[in-house]
Amino acid sequence: MPSQLVFVEPGTAAWDSVWALLLAETAGDPAQLCRCCGEVWQYMGSYTNGADTVHEFRHRHSPITGRREYRRFTQRGELLPVRATLSPAAAALLAQIESAR
Ligand SMILES: [Zn+2]
Repeated sequence: MPSQLVFVEPGTAAWDSVWALLLAETAGDPAQLCRCCGEVWQYMGSYTNGADTVHEFRHRHSPITGRREYRRFTQRGELLPVRATLSPAAAALLAQIESAR
């Protein structure tokens, strides 16, 4: 099965479960606000990988490391009611890739 880009809908139980994955790594502070530039953790989107769903987060300026950080979390697909809808950004990216072929 080909990998599919998905974007979890904010305000849903799935959204909460995705952020809970990050929460476990950030000592209860899912934002980790950088006091110098106001950057916080951002959910970038998800993609399917076989039966799994991989969720990606990015922080442009981590107050812990002072650098750009990425986190990926893998969930078994059936555990998460991910809505298979593309975000506008993901749809635009896919369109670009398709037109470049
Ligand atoms: Zn900063």
